[in-house]
Amino acid sequence: MIDTDDQTSIIAEVIPRANSKAICSSCNQPAPGYDQLASRMFEFIPIWNIPVFLKYSMRRVQCPSCGVKVEAVPWAQGKHSCCDVYRYYLSHWAKKLSWSDTAKSFNTSWDNVCRSVKWVVSYGLKHRDLSDVSAIGVDEVAYKKGHQYMTLIYQIDKGKKRLLGVIKDRTELALSGFFDDQGTAWCAKIKVVCSDMWKPYLNVIKSCLPNALNVLDRFHIVKKLTEAVDNTRREEARRLKEEGYEPILQKSRYSFLKRPENLTEKQQGKLNDVLQYDLKTNRAYLLKESFDGFWQYKSWHWARWYMRKWCTRAMRSKIEPMKKFVKMLRNHEDLLMNYFKAKKSYSSGIVEGLNLRINLSMRKAYGYKSFDLLKISLFHQLGELPEPEFTHRFC
Ligand SMILES: [Zn+2]
Repeated sequence: MIDTDDQTSIIAEVIPRANSKAICSSCNQPAPGYDQLASRMFEFIPIWNIPVFLKYSMRRVQCPSCGVKVEAVPWAQGKHSCCDVYRYYLSHWAKKLSWSDTAKSFNTSWDNVCRSVKWVVSYGLKHRDLSDVSAIGVDEVAYKKGHQYMTLIYQIDKGKKRLLGVIKDRTELALSGFFDDQGTAWCAKIKVVCSDMWKPYLNVIKSCLPNALNVLDRFHIVKKLTEAVDNTRREEARRLKEEGYEPILQKSRYSFLKRPENLTEKQQGKLNDVLQYDLKTNRAYLLKESFDGFWQYKSWHWARWYMRKWCTRAMRSKIEPMKKFVKMLRNHEDLLMNYFKAKKSYSSGIVEGLNLRINLSMRKAYGYKSFDLLKISLFHQLGELPEPEFTHRFC
């Protein structure tokens, strides 16, 4: 134990076994000694918040194949001043806490935490096995204000959900780049892709994944439909106000957006009130509720029959946002039917759940300064990556 002016720390001195041969860090072979460098400190896992260091004088070897090299030591890599196990420990906590809270909790710098997570993630990406992937989801997520999008690729096979790719942007080029990297053999094994209706995605999926059934996500369709109802309500509320009517639609937003079974008593009351009036919003709302029937079908024939009937009814409503939604459905009818052909087993609930976690980790990532750091953090949280092996598990 050593007390310096500002802090108490524990320092363990490491001495090489007598007559042990140093290992060349370049080729990992034992080599004759050359000289010894001045002692260095390696940060280890703190004990009761007291910093712990290993103190060691690195030897240099005269390697027959590599020349004069610093030796390899089992507790740390390269010029890194933290022990591997400490870096792993920090990155483990950085999954649960924000990076700055992790740094604070363990009396270390944010940079140390960041570098540790980077190291664990790059190990994981290098060693992960993607051979069992047969179903994927492709999704766009806004990661910054001002319509900055990234594309996320997930594995959505039964019993195995994980994040596979994070791409800046949502262009054709960006997505096809990901598939090119995986190779044609990998792409040929993909049987199902869940996506939304973003045209560049549909194009790339068609050209890069020859054997995949492209399923439009229920989650995204319902989201679009809900938006249509919301836009109808907003337009109508504005019109009523302009024409000097009672503001009946005020504070009704969530009564219309939420599923009936999730409404609070107050919201249900508001909805009952509003539904008494002859409003476009009400008609749009009832159309939305009746669209639920579509998802109940098992056979795609009957689902299509229902959808077409529903679309005709929605067109007759003369409600612009609903008509726009119908056009979108009609343009993607085949892909919508794929949801039923895939036996409804690849629903978006999965993607939705992952998206929630993504949003959470982006919020945690509040301090991330760049897209690259966000990407690392997402892989860290959701990539289910393999971790470096240690003789002891510290966490
Ligand atoms: Zn060597």
